[in-house]
Amino acid sequence: PDPTLRPERLEGEPEDRALRPQSLSDFVGQAEARANLRVFIESARMRGQAMDHTLFFGPPGLGKTTLAQIMARELGVSFRMTSGPVLARAGDLAAILTNLEARDVLFIDEIHRMNPAVEEVLYPAMEDFELDLVIGEGPAARTVRIELQPFTLVGATTRLGLLTTPLRDRFGIPTRLQFYEVAELDLIVQRGARMMGIEADPDGTQEIARRARGTPRIAGRLLRRVVDFALVEGDGRLTRGIADMALTRLGVDDLGLDGADRRYLTLMAEHYGGGPVGVETLSAALSESRDAIEEVIEPYLLQQGLIARTPRGRQLASRAWRHLGLEAPRPAGQ
Ligand code: ADP
Repeated sequence: PDPTLRPERLEGEPEDRALRPQSLSDFVGQAEARANLRVFIESARMRGQAMDHTLFFGPPGLGKTTLAQIMARELGVSFRMTSGPVLARAGDLAAILTNLEARDVLFIDEIHRMNPAVEEVLYPAMEDFELDLVIGEGPAARTVRIELQPFTLVGATTRLGLLTTPLRDRFGIPTRLQFYEVAELDLIVQRGARMMGIEADPDGTQEIARRARGTPRIAGRLLRRVVDFALVEGDGRLTRGIADMALTRLGVDDLGLDGADRRYLTLMAEHYGGGPVGVETLSAALSESRDAIEEVIEPYLLQQGLIARTPRGRQLASRAWRHLGLEAPRPAGQ
């Protein structure tokens, strides 16, 4: 499957600065999260204190990093960014923490992938803004306590369930991000087209929005590719016809599913009679990691009512059978 159609951030992908909203009022969608954040940001500003630690969770590409950057900007503080897998040793985190200034925002992406030894350092830092460093080794080792500036940790994760309880409990503001509505994605695509200086028909941007898998990152990528087709094979205008032709050629179907999604559904239908099938079995048959299946493929299929999770595994819903153009097997005994 084409990796550019997947919602994950790609290695070395240029930051889409033009598309990235800069303030909470520019940020489209996630109304509930946005309304709450507005209050917490304002309150922290009024008190002159660091905002509470905030955890964003939800599928990739929904705006976790973007919201963290907006928080820093609206709080009027600096933004530092790292990720769970990058923080290999406790010293890596200590170096970052001791360099923070008062009320700064430290963003840790993929926080569920942090090494336990690093996580230990984070607990007192989050709770009391203190760092306990072990100096030396063996019997000569001793602990020194370093005072930190008060800061706001913003964690992001695609897998809330993989966070340890002590880490999870230290976030005052846990915030779930949801897939976007088509109308919200349409606004994002319209804004993107304007910024690219492209004339776009309303049903052209809507077609992209409808097929963007509920995800702004995908909407942005699809827009860039549709614009390529509009310029090279059309008259430069983003129409519904051009969008449909381009998306179909890219392998994005009418529901916005890509090759990986369809492989998943087809496997369930053709090899497992629609399930229930365990995730390990699907992972082996599709050569996809269990994480990718649970974090990236399934959330959207579940949200679209194409599959269901049952105690015995995943099951195809009737909508999926219809989408694949296949007949669902009759329940036994009928
Ligand atoms: P995450 O951290 O959840 O993977 P990002 O914050 O990196 O997602 O967002 C992915 C892309 O989608 C970025 O290019 C960002 O500019 C864009 N984006 C995300 N949310 C929005 C939004 N609400 N409005 C406009 N663009 C958005």
